[in-house]
Amino acid sequence: MADKALITRLDNRLDQLVNIDMGERGVEHLFEAARALEGQSLIGAAADTLMAVPEGGTVVITTGSVSRAWITPDLGENDGPSGAAAIARALVLARNVTCVLLCEDTLLPAIRNTCQAAGLFPVTLEQASIAKADKSLATIVMLPYATDDVGGQAQAETLMDELNPDLLFSTERVGRNEFGVYHSMRGIDYGMGRARVDLLFDLALERGVPVVAVGDGGNEIGMGKVADHVKAHVPYGDACQCGCGGGIGAVTSCDVLVTAACSNWGCTAIAAAMAARASNAKLLHTPDHEALLLDTMVANGLINSTHGIVDDNVDGFTRQSHIAVAELCRSIVSRAI
Ligand SMILES: [Zn+2]
Repeated sequence: MADKALITRLDNRLDQLVNIDMGERGVEHLFEAARALEGQSLIGAAADTLMAVPEGGTVVITTGSVSRAWITPDLGENDGPSGAAAIARALVLARNVTCVLLCEDTLLPAIRNTCQAAGLFPVTLEQASIAKADKSLATIVMLPYATDDVGGQAQAETLMDELNPDLLFSTERVGRNEFGVYHSMRGIDYGMGRARVDLLFDLALERGVPVVAVGDGGNEIGMGKVADHVKAHVPYGDACQCGCGGGIGAVTSCDVLVTAACSNWGCTAIAAAMAARASNAKLLHTPDHEALLLDTMVANGLINSTHGIVDDNVDGFTRQSHIAVAELCRSIVSRAI
């Protein structure tokens, strides 16, 4: 176990790295606000919470955005899935947990293949419990989530009762605003065909189950924690373009909020902080892993939503910048590993 003062310094450097607002989207304001509320490194707080999941426990993860919902529900974006896969991998290796990933039925194939490229074989809940008992296979369970409000609320209650999760983790998953509308960063309503998984996160918070959330724009699950700052600093934060009367900010809050210029970078940094805590390089999301996941996401038709094209420039940032972030995160924590 690395010493605590060193870990704190590394956490702060990871925070700084992933919150450089290269996309000019106002994330530095959200970072300052979240950091003031947390009173410490966001990446560090997230890693501590994830590493505190009981050995052999259950974690619910969500990601995925039907990026052009008004055209087709079959198209997802490529910020989110690789980050979620990196966190699931680190959790399985560090804590031997069952990870249950929830997303739209339409996005399951692409996200499943991304998780598999990260080393996790997709199985059923029953199969996952066998694998967990004898530690013979790194697995992930994928389940579709309802895309209507009534179904989403009913499934929230069923899943909380049946899975009894120890923690919920969300990255780059849009949540509804105060009028129940799901907005894109351009302030339009794109709730059609979208999983109402934010209702599950609200229920988890109500029941006192820890929630860690990663976001880069203000419209994601978890951003309810800094709602005033989303209104003040993010384009369409105070008034959308759909006419609902609200802004794009998501109402769903969280216990630990991680901001980043690109949500995938937040996840890469959290995995690095987990690796530092465990002194275990296997938990890292390495540059090689990132390259493989970028290729896998392109092969599975996930879109660079900034440019409206299927390529590996996630959120409009070049492929090289994503691989570089993975390398820099690894360099930052190398002294602890
Ligand atoms: Zn609206």
